[in-house]
Amino acid sequence: MRVLITGGAGFLGSHLCDRFLGEGHEVIAMDNLITGYTANIEHLAGHEKFLFIRHDVTNYIYIEGPLDAVLHFASPASPVDYLEVPIQTLKVGALGTHKALGLAKAKGARFLLASTSEVYGDPLVHPQTEDYWGNVNPIGPRGVYDEAKRFAEAMTMAYHRYHNVDTRIVRIFNTYGPRMRLNDGRAVPNFIAQALAGEPLTVYGDGSQTRSLCYVSDLVEGVYRLLLSEEVEPINIGNTKEMTILELAEKIIALANGSSKITFVQPKDQRIKDDPKRRQPNIEKAQRILDWEPKVELEDGLRKTIDYFKERVQG
Ligand code: NAD
Ligand code: UDP
Repeated sequence: MRVLITGGAGFLGSHLCDRFLGEGHEVIAMDNLITGYTANIEHLAGHEKFLFIRHDVTNYIYIEGPLDAVLHFASPASPVDYLEVPIQTLKVGALGTHKALGLAKAKGARFLLASTSEVYGDPLVHPQTEDYWGNVNPIGPRGVYDEAKRFAEAMTMAYHRYHNVDTRIVRIFNTYGPRMRLNDGRAVPNFIAQALAGEPLTVYGDGSQTRSLCYVSDLVEGVYRLLLSEEVEPINIGNTKEMTILELAEKIIALANGSSKITFVQPKDQRIKDDPKRRQPNIEKAQRILDWEPKVELEDGLRKTIDYFKERVQG
């Protein structure tokens, strides 16, 4: 296959580049580097089947030659990032998805949208199944991301139904691993960076909100299987092991240095407004259709991520 990965210099996009190249495919990574880094793909420079194009996908996308698949991963993904660039987040979810779908249609390529558990908002159904329509505040700070992704899903289904584009939608639940930005503001990088610096870990609120964390290699496997499957409707990919954010902070302290304290903070900005209180994927659909389930234990994944961050912190 010849595949285009938008957001290819980001955390997940760069791992997908590795996976597709590893399977012998040709990869074009496209990114405007708003939250990504060329450092994530510098090891691929010179690879005969890899090409990087710096481009903002909210503008017309031009690719020479055939394409078999378009994986649309471009979008800020950390709440701190999308609070800083709310308009760009709305634009890449809406205009960027439109451009990427138009490209897939023109090339006769399969299209895969990176959607998110945020389409469920602060969920009233737990664990979240794909048939749940969600509880999203459109005008809250997270609305720029959540509604853009909901629009992106609607646009993807419209291109499927109206233009017969062969589409896939993955709803990704919190994923972590090497190549997350140290300062991207998400819980895992924040906590690891703080623990490695011997600083207190900043738990927002009382830390009773939950998340379920998936290691990046498991996510990549799920995305790869979904692309090759025939399933058009959304599929959750994530780990089902749910924990409180306080438990996560304690685990990271134990694995990273054992001496940091925890401090409970109430950020004064909009960071925790509409913060989902509970999140856990129901992955029965992925198990049944993709024969997929996560394999990496939290401790193993966190250790690998801590090692990666250690190298960065210590230069
Ligand atoms: P990331 O910020 O590391 O990567 C996103 C990449 O998209 C960055 O390299 C950024 O520069 C690029 N980008 C943003 N706007 C662009 C534009 N207009 N044109 C070209 N490139 C652009 O984030 P990530 O965690 O790798 O997330 C990747 C995708 O997966 C996103 O679509 C995100 O919504 C989705 N997702 C991620 C998670 C997660 O836990 N990591 C969870 C749910 C969904
Ligand atoms: N969080 C925290 N301290 C931090 C960063 C995040 O307590 O330094 C909390 C945040 O409020 C949320 C959870 O950790 O409840 C996960 O946040 P993250 O930004 O990783 O992802 P989200 O699932 O909210 O998109």
